[in-house]
Amino acid sequence: MPQIFDTHTHYLAQQFDADRDALLAALPQNGVGLVVDCATDFESSEKVIALCEKYPHIYGALGIHPESIIEEDASTRACFGGDWRAEMAAIRPLYEHPKVVAIGECGLDYYWPIPKDEQLALFEAELRLALELDKPIIVHDREAHGDTYALLKKYRPKGVVHCYSGSADDAKWLTAQGLYIGFGGVVTFKNARKTIEAAAAVPLDKMLIETDCPYMAPVPYRGKRCDSTLLTYVAQKLAEIKNVGSDEILTRTFENGKVLFGID
Ligand SMILES: [Zn+2]
Repeated sequence: MPQIFDTHTHYLAQQFDADRDALLAALPQNGVGLVVDCATDFESSEKVIALCEKYPHIYGALGIHPESIIEEDASTRACFGGDWRAEMAAIRPLYEHPKVVAIGECGLDYYWPIPKDEQLALFEAELRLALELDKPIIVHDREAHGDTYALLKKYRPKGVVHCYSGSADDAKWLTAQGLYIGFGGVVTFKNARKTIEAAAAVPLDKMLIETDCPYMAPVPYRGKRCDSTLLTYVAQKLAEIKNVGSDEILTRTFENGKVLFGID
């Protein structure tokens, strides 16, 4: 069976504290060839780099998640007192690391009560950084399609709209602009009609698969802790939607991820 490229994970989450090392070390023998682990603030950025250095199959994305603006224990507040500009400056030298392949996770989240002007300013700063460093950006868009798309049109970065929740029509222009679309466990859920339509509209050369683990486990593991090995269920569902074999989904998404993130 072809290898899996999980393009969006959070293996620093406490849900993995009990068995993180065993799980990560075993990923290649369990079919997972590559992973991009995503930081959400300065502290996790340093820890993601430590994971990258320990495991050949793990690469990193560094950035500030919009939720970090209001989370008490995010270093955005705990170390930088809410000054995300200072935090971005602290993260900046870490992008020199050879296994840091993207800016992220960043974006807009209108589900949680995060001040809009702050998160818009932060996301624009991350977009400008992506262009300056010529690296792809990993975009979080939760109930913020209009503003997210307006900024993606304005800056035209390389990157991926992760855990895609927009329409099929929007997926068409996003991919025509060169962006990739990330699909995960949601596509296997009962109420996934909109996501299935979007997956049908995304060309195979712009499709990525991702867990967002420990969250978003696919059916039949919905609600349980997720890890990268469960992407076989996501690939099976995407294969049905695209009318190809699930091996082809795994092969194509693996190659797409290598192209986007510049991994040989
Ligand atoms: Zn995430």
